[in-house]
Amino acid sequence: MSEIDLLLQGDRRAIARAITRVERGGAEAQALLAAIYPHSGRAYVVGVTGAPGTGKSTLVTQLAQAYRAQGKTVGIVAVDPTSPFTGGAILGDRVRMQALSGDPGIFIRSMATRGNLGGLAWATRDAVTILDAAGFELIIVETVGAGQSEVDIAQAAHTTLVVTVPGLGDDIQTVKAGILEIADIFVVNKADLPHAEQVVAQLRTMLNLNPNPDSWRPPIVKTIALTGEGITELTEAIQQHRTHLEETGEKQRRERARMEKEVLDILRNTLLAKALDGVAGEYVHELVDRVAARELDPYTAAQRLMQR
Ligand code: GDP
Repeated sequence: MSEIDLLLQGDRRAIARAITRVERGGAEAQALLAAIYPHSGRAYVVGVTGAPGTGKSTLVTQLAQAYRAQGKTVGIVAVDPTSPFTGGAILGDRVRMQALSGDPGIFIRSMATRGNLGGLAWATRDAVTILDAAGFELIIVETVGAGQSEVDIAQAAHTTLVVTVPGLGDDIQTVKAGILEIADIFVVNKADLPHAEQVVAQLRTMLNLNPNPDSWRPPIVKTIALTGEGITELTEAIQQHRTHLEETGEKQRRERARMEKEVLDILRNTLLAKALDGVAGEYVHELVDRVAARELDPYTAAQRLMQR
């Protein structure tokens, strides 16, 4: 049986090899994606983001177990843009592995940066496509933090959960402007700690000040991931958002917008690579040196490169 057929049948080792391949990128990765793409597009993708230590790994473990109890298969992609290694266990992975290991209906993969955050966002998207084509019904993408790369990663999701906890500081540090826009559901985890209600109230105020332009009003769900409290309510909120996306046509709109961005991103990168191809790296360095010395401005430097 071919490697692609194995993958499409859900063979775990074929899936792992495929993800490694898209992490490396290049022509082989492209060929693989071309072969499996027609088989993707069935999975529902849930993104989970928040600061380190907010309990995302614990929460994702609970969510995965809840979906397994509903009979759904679950793929998990844990992305850590701050960690320089990959393929191994990051952060809460060991906890998660223990609770979820041995279940053939679950596949977990950790991904970390190899120095290029943009590349990580791409590899994550491709890993989701692979798990989707391999037949996983629900895919959870977990990312750390609230930077641009996490926002990019979250855009691969249908429903994005933003996780916060009591005691992070006076204001809600994790919930910055950018993150507010991507949140479909707010999770206040560690609701067993003092001041959880305060965090909920702050979020509510913030939502009132910044009403969502589409008709969806992000609910705020309190959870205690340690005990599983609130997880049922969370899966219900996700289901409601899914129904909302499907009934309003927003699901298709989001998917199309994402695909357009993806195609244009690839085009931009390809054009840039083409433009730089044949330009000696030394020349780039030389120009940057001159920009650093204020002999050239960046626009003129880029123009010189174009002329090459
Ligand atoms: P992550 O870095 O966001 O993935 O966070 P983890 O899932 O690794 O959890 C960080 C710490 O918070 C761990 O020690 C967890 O046991 C703990 N934790 C997770 N959920 C809860 C909760 O609901 N209540 C309390 N008190 N602790 C929690």
